[in-house]
Amino acid sequence: MRALTWHGRHDVRVDTVPDPEIVHPRDVIIKITSTAICGSDLHLFDGYIPTMRAGDILGHENMGEVVEVGAKSPLKKGQRVVIPFTVSCGSCYFCGKQQFSACDNSNPATTSDMSETLYGYPMGGALGYAHLTGGYAGGQAEYLRVPYSDVGPVVIPDGMPDDQVLFLSDILPTGWMAAENAEIEPGDTVAVWGCGPVGLFAIQSAFLMGAHRVIAIDHFPRRLELAKGLGAEILHFREVNVREALFEMTGGIGPDACIDCVGMEAHGLGIDNILDTVKAHTFLGTDRPAAFRQAILSCRKGGRVSVPGVYGGMMDKFPIGAFMEKGLTMKTGQTHVQKYTAELLRMIEEGKIDTTFLVSHHASLEDGPDMYRHWHDHQDTYTKIILKPGLEKGAVQTQQEKIHEPA
Ligand SMILES: [Zn+2]
Ligand SMILES: [Zn+2]
Repeated sequence: MRALTWHGRHDVRVDTVPDPEIVHPRDVIIKITSTAICGSDLHLFDGYIPTMRAGDILGHENMGEVVEVGAKSPLKKGQRVVIPFTVSCGSCYFCGKQQFSACDNSNPATTSDMSETLYGYPMGGALGYAHLTGGYAGGQAEYLRVPYSDVGPVVIPDGMPDDQVLFLSDILPTGWMAAENAEIEPGDTVAVWGCGPVGLFAIQSAFLMGAHRVIAIDHFPRRLELAKGLGAEILHFREVNVREALFEMTGGIGPDACIDCVGMEAHGLGIDNILDTVKAHTFLGTDRPAAFRQAILSCRKGGRVSVPGVYGGMMDKFPIGAFMEKGLTMKTGQTHVQKYTAELLRMIEEGKIDTTFLVSHHASLEDGPDMYRHWHDHQDTYTKIILKPGLEKGAVQTQQEKIHEPA
């Protein structure tokens, strides 16, 4: 089959690789109909995630049609399913607490020692995301092997198009959990750093949970415009002092909750971020947490900080004094996708959530390497790319251009 494979920093290729096979009775194989490129794929593209190997198949936001079924899978051939990026056994201590991304069984013993050395505990498994999380092949390919198919896959009712449900695989539950972790109360003012897909869904979720105001922070005009379209007030961080602006907008109190949807590759302007960048490039530090620091320093006393943004290693200059003295609460973590998919699918069906506004491009698998470059270089116009293995090469459809076409 054809698949998008990683070969090093800024080197993604389309290769012909062996088709996946059922290796366990709980597996299924799906024929991919849609697979998205994620913001966290950029961390792989930029070479910030260790334990990638040349030839690894990318892609953790996948859906498709069941074409082969293991003896112990409840799924049936022909069913359309969305696959959570988290690989979870469903029966360990952590899965029992619905903390699916902390699954103790899904990261094989041969790879789990890496994260155990780094973090003290082995990480749960994830699709298409380095050997640190199990070395599972991703779904930016024609076919995908889905382990634990009795735990993760969401069966999609007929008549719901791929674009409407694909994001149940990661970014929609991630935005939702980010808002849940911010413990939003009716009437709250919530600040969200980063208006990429997760940030935009966190904004939507915050309003659904009762936030009175959401203030969105970014520097890409198109993304800020999308945030505004969802009802958020916006701050361009290159034009204002974010912390001062937030204080002013909240009568000197600060936001009740702050959500960092940026993670380790923040584009801060402060001297601290310049130092972080130098350190990351010289391997003296791994994370550039400008947004995270700003969130902690801006949050009101007794407020909550939620961190869905991905961090991988060590952080310098964590403002622990402000965090402690203000009495903040912080929640973070990889998303427990399976915990949220049924509820979110119902909300999509009821029309309470629509995520299709985000999709800017559909492209073929063969165009994948170009799409990675565009996604990396033009984040303002490429807000979300969906790869469809069935499409012909060059058949890029730009929904946002369509929106702007005269009627
Ligand atoms: Zn993702
Ligand atoms: Zn488990």
